[in-house]
This record gives sequence, C-alpha cells and structure tokens, in this order.
Amino acid sequence: MFDYLIVGAGFSGSVLAERLASQLGKKVLVCDRRNHIGGNAYDHYNDAGILVHKYGPHIFHTNSRDVFEYLSNFTEWRRYEHRVLASVDGQLVPMPINLDTINKLYGLNLTSFELNDFFASVAEPKESIRTSEDVVVSKVGRELYEKFFRNYTIKQWGIDPSELDKSVTARVPTRTNRDDRYFTDTYQAMPLHGFTRMFENMLSHPNIKVMLNVDYREIQKMIPFKEMIYSGPVDEFFDYRYGKLPYRSLDFKHETLNESVHQPAAVVNYPNEHLYTRVTEFKYLTGQEHTKTSLVYEYPKAEGDPYYPVPRPENAELYKQYKALADSTPGVHFVGRLATYKYYNMDQVVAQALSVYAKITERPSWHPEE
Ligand code: FAD
Ligand code: UDP
Repeated sequence: MFDYLIVGAGFSGSVLAERLASQLGKKVLVCDRRNHIGGNAYDHYNDAGILVHKYGPHIFHTNSRDVFEYLSNFTEWRRYEHRVLASVDGQLVPMPINLDTINKLYGLNLTSFELNDFFASVAEPKESIRTSEDVVVSKVGRELYEKFFRNYTIKQWGIDPSELDKSVTARVPTRTNRDDRYFTDTYQAMPLHGFTRMFENMLSHPNIKVMLNVDYREIQKMIPFKEMIYSGPVDEFFDYRYGKLPYRSLDFKHETLNESVHQPAAVVNYPNEHLYTRVTEFKYLTGQEHTKTSLVYEYPKAEGDPYYPVPRPENAELYKQYKALADSTPGVHFVGRLATYKYYNMDQVVAQALSVYAKITERPSWHPEE
C-alpha cells in the first residue's frame, strides 16, 4: 500500500515525492507516461555528447531564497546570467529592449534620460492596461511593439496580443539602462550537472518508487494508495467535462553543428522572420566545452503536448469551473503548471508544491478505503 500515488515526475511531482518521503516517511509511487523523469525540465546528453534540454531552454531564476535553498539540497550550481538577442531590421539587438537596443536600432547615441523622454514621446497612454498589447504600447509605443512583440506573440500564441492577458508580455521588461540580462532575479543559476541529475537526487529515497512509461489510469485500480498528487492537465483528469482548456504546444527541432560556436548569444529571438520563434545554443547555458554545438528551434503549434496554458479571460473562466471540481475531489491534490493552469516558471512550481506540502502536513490525511 502506497501512501501517495504521484502523477508526473516533473518539478511538482518530484518536490512532493521528496518531501513526503524524506520528511514524513510516506511511501510514494511516482508515475510518468514519458520515458524519463524531470517533466519539461528534462535534459540529457545527445548522440554527440552535448547536454541539451529536450523540451526547450530551461533557465533557473528566482527571487525566493526558500526555493533556491530547497533545490540546493539536490544540486550544486553554475553561475549563469541569461542573455538574449532579437533579430530586428537586419540587426541582432539586446532583448529586453534597453538603451543599447534603441541606439543600435535607430543609429542614435541617447543617454538613459533621453531614452526616458523618447519612450514618453512614443508611448500611447492607456486608461487601463488589460492586454498584452496594452502593456507594451503604453510603455514603448506602437512601432517598437510591432518590431519586437506583435509578430512574435502571434507566432507563439496563435492570437493577437490584444486578445492575450497583460501578464504574458509583462514577463519581458523595458529598460532605460544598459542591463542586457534577460532576468534580474536575485538567484540565477543552472544545476551544475544538469536538471535530470538534480531530479535523480530528489527521487533517490528508499520510500520512493518511480514507474515510467505509465499513464496513471493504467495502474490506479491495480495499485492501492491512499491519496493522489496530480500534475497533469486538469481538464484531462475530468475527461474534458466542461470542454478542452486551450494549451499551446511546440515542435522542437534539435540540430548539432560541426562548429564550436554558432550564434553570438544563448538565445536569438526571431519576431518577424521564420516559422520558429527562437534558437537556443545549449553550450551557453551549460558551460560545456565541446568541438561541436547543439541548437534547438521552437515551432509553436496548437495541438500536441500541452506546454503553455493560454492566459486570457475566457480560459480563466473555464479553468474556474475545473478548479471548483478539483477543490471538491477529496484525496487528490492538483499541483503545477498543467493541473492549476498557470503560466508558472520552475521556481513558482517549486514554491507551489512546497506550499501544498505544508498544507498536507497541517491536516489528517484522507483515506478513501477506510
Ligand atoms: P511538467 O514538467 O509538465 O510535468 C508534468 C508531468 O506529468 C509530465 O512529465 C507528464 O508526462 C506527466 N503526466 C501528465 N499526465 C500524466 C498521466 N495521465 N499519467 C502519467 N504522467 C502524466 N521555467 C523556468 O523557470 N525557466 C525557463 O527558462 C523555462 N523555460 C521553459 C521553456 C519551455 C519551452 C517550456 C514549455 C517551459 C519552460 N519553463 C521554464 C516552465 C517549466 O517547464 C515549468 O514551470 C515546469 O517544468 C513545470 O513543472 P510541472 O511539474 O508542473 O509540469
Ligand atoms: N515576447 C515577444 N518578443 C520577444 C520575447 C517575448 O513578443 O522577443 C512575448 C511573447 O508573447 C512571449 C512572452 O513575451 O510569449 C513571454 O516571453 P518569455 O521569453 O518569457 O517566454 P517563454 O520563455 O515562457 O516562452
């Protein structure tokens, strides 16, 4: 008899498995329908021997000391600050938009003060900021919005930014200084030996068993357990009772080249050209030295593995219905990006899983068969 059946071996499932087993002595079975642990953060050495992220670039960053310290139990870190260039008007310029972006793009020599004035002169004031278009246009005006955000967003999400919640493009700031880091969080680092190694360390406890290549529906009737932790898509759990929640998917095209460095930054974004949104060169992220280099191209699509919940009002409404169902399903805890339909980064998922763990420890557990 297992105390917990945990569906999904990504961050949500692995954090809870680790806590429940190591702190409460619970017996835990983690299953995943993929053939590996780590969820979307899974990395592995490819045929050329280069460490790559199977599901696109994953860069760890957080302002939460708790989250960073918690994960530090399972990995050492490599200092890493992420930098991105955008291909716009035939040039590669820093993204997020900063002082150098504008000076390079327009052949200017503005100071930070002058750039402030420039943004103020082109910004379109909005009474209320609701959409992903409003966020950008109200800060940097329509021209820069068109060059950097509009087409990228249409490609990535399949809808116009004016139909997408403001939180999406608000992830990317605008700066008047020369800071060209993609993130400004206090903690920015990559697991020294990769994400998968970190997950192996989290899950290697005598009370944790891991079953791969298994959908929980195949085993839930055969293997006795007391409670479930579910980190798959919430609509799927309820057999799409209220209809499908939209998720955005991606095709990843991996490529290895016979050269040691291919592009001038870890990631190059292509807002206006190509069918892919961005190209990542993994060796920047991992610091690995190798005579070859591996890249991944991301091609957005509607169908396929669910990667991104789509933040917009009608989806939030639909999710509310599923959340009400989830809240009234005893003995099942819904955790993570898919099960709570939130566009969460890794650190937010870890924080959410830790708070679910805290809640579990506060109340007596529910035993369906008693
Ligand atoms: P997942 O990692 O999706 O894990 C859920 C697991 O459940 C999956 O392995 C799935 O196979 C399994 N599962 C689902 N249903 C079933 C079932 N019925 N039976 C058995 N198993 C099932 N975050 C960052 O912080 N920084 C980044 O740079 C970053 N980049 C990203 C880039 C891309 C392209 C994507 C898609 C995401 C990125 N993220 C990033 C977000 C990050 O991937 C997530 O926050 C995190 O991995 C979510 O963890 P999770 O455990 O909630 O879900
Ligand atoms: N975005 C954009 N142009 C860019 C980078 C980002 O329009 O060059 C928008 C786009 O809508 C994207 C969102 O900002 O989906 C969030 O970007 P982020 O890099 O955080 O996306 P993620 O890494 O989560 O895919």
